Amino acid sequence: MTTHTFDIVVLGGGSGGYAAALRASELGKSVALIEKDKVGGTCLHRGCIPTKALLHAAEVAEHVRDAAHVGITATLERIDPAGVRDYREGIVAKKYKGLEGLVKARGITTVTGTGRLNPDRSISVGEDRYVGADVVLATGSYSRTLPGLDIGGRILTSEQALSLDVIPDRVLVLGGGVIGVEFASVWRSFGAEVTIIEALPHLVPNEDVAMSKGLERAFRRRGIQYSLGVRFQTATQDDSSVTVTLEDGKTFTADYLLVAVGRGPVTADLGLEEAGVRLDRGFVTVDDDLRTGVDGLWAVGDITPGLQLAHRGFQQGIAVAERIAGLSPVNVPDAQIPKVTYSSPEVASVGVSEEAAVAAHGADAVVAYEYNLAGNGKSEIIGTGGLVKVVRLKDGPVLGVHLLGDRVGELITEGQLAVAWEAHPEDIAPLIHAHPTQSEALGEAFLALAGKPLHAL
Ligand SMILES: Cc1cc2nc3c(=O)[nH]c(=O)nc-3n(C[C@H](O)[C@H](O)[C@H](O)COP(=O)(O)OP(=O)(O)OC[C@H]3O[C@@H](n4cnc5c(N)ncnc54)[C@H](O)[C@@H]3O)c2cc1C
Repeated sequence: MTTHTFDIVVLGGGSGGYAAALRASELGKSVALIEKDKVGGTCLHRGCIPTKALLHAAEVAEHVRDAAHVGITATLERIDPAGVRDYREGIVAKKYKGLEGLVKARGITTVTGTGRLNPDRSISVGEDRYVGADVVLATGSYSRTLPGLDIGGRILTSEQALSLDVIPDRVLVLGGGVIGVEFASVWRSFGAEVTIIEALPHLVPNEDVAMSKGLERAFRRRGIQYSLGVRFQTATQDDSSVTVTLEDGKTFTADYLLVAVGRGPVTADLGLEEAGVRLDRGFVTVDDDLRTGVDGLWAVGDITPGLQLAHRGFQQGIAVAERIAGLSPVNVPDAQIPKVTYSSPEVASVGVSEEAAVAAHGADAVVAYEYNLAGNGKSEIIGTGGLVKVVRLKDGPVLGVHLLGDRVGELITEGQLAVAWEAHPEDIAPLIHAHPTQSEALGEAFLALAGKPLHAL
């Protein structure tokens, strides 16, 4: 057994792990990054990037279909799954190459192999042992399923759905959260009959209910079917189809079933408990500074409880590297982290929903304003409907910003600044937004909340 010593050893090279490694090396630390598959992790190889490439291809298909509406004569002949795959894989390959180059240029030692934590806090990879003054756990997450629902054949997780080389005629999506809604949107644009099955009463149930209802209306118009509020019971498959039965006895049959019911932490059989790491339903318990409670052992990304988002992983990785280096980065609570669902239309939010604000502060202390994108010139031009909703404390700061519509994900940064800086709408209202942009819709909401609506009553 050979022992290798570093300032920092990072287990898992996804968004959280590689961000920690990059920042630590920038701060002069020697770093080993242990990854069993490919640096970049879920987000780059199986998550954010390939799904957004698919969504872009889907958007192009919709534009071609709608071209006559803007006076362009075009016909959508067909979707070429191999062509879409080449485009998607090309984007991932390019980003992967760039990331590998960056990791190398920063002098980080990448170790290919499966790591396991030892009780002395070192990490074993095969016959080698990696010892760090600090160790960062960042092993990420996997696609969950439900009891009795076995993945395989026509029953897919997002990983298999991504690499599906056919466009299904009919597809069922179990789970109306971010991943389910994004795949539903893509498949519908590619011409499939899509049905989403969600046990909770709304699609994107973690969003403000006005956004969920708006998305449901938009999906209905797009011909995306959904069943809400009834739980899955069983799924059976044969050579040609899969049938899902709900608890109320209703059945749905399609070519494939995507199971998108959430992601669990990759923390089993890693030696964590033996090393003294506390787990809560499989997630690593951490304090606000991302310490596990075991001296010198930190955890970042999807294995920690909270929002499972790549940019949260980046932020946590950076913060841990800085803390190890003796700096004092600020903690970013989940409520200040922007969330985007990249379907058509998109849903984007930061801060709290109106309902949560009312629960926390009382109905009399909360003011919410909704601005319909029908009043926004740029949205009209690009052909999207939607909604901007801003929630504030009466005479106080902005608590939440919620957006619905094509391309609105790009606007959420402004909402994030408003929420995190505890801006009052009166502070933002004088900062007039460029015309014509979709950001004006957000400006209109701030103007209205400041008592001086421009293009609204
Ligand atoms: C379909 C899909 C779409 C998504 N879209 C978005 C999006 O648009 N925006 C967004 O912000 N988030 C998105 N996410 C979520 C995002 O991918 C995750 O939040 C992010 O990847 C978490 O980063 P992480 O570093 O915690 O874990 P991961 O990215 O999962 O990385 C963990 C790494 O650890 C490695 N590993 C695990 N165990 C070991 C071991 N024992 N030894 C060595 N290596 C190990 C794994 O191989 C993996 O590379 C999406 C996820 C999916 C599935």
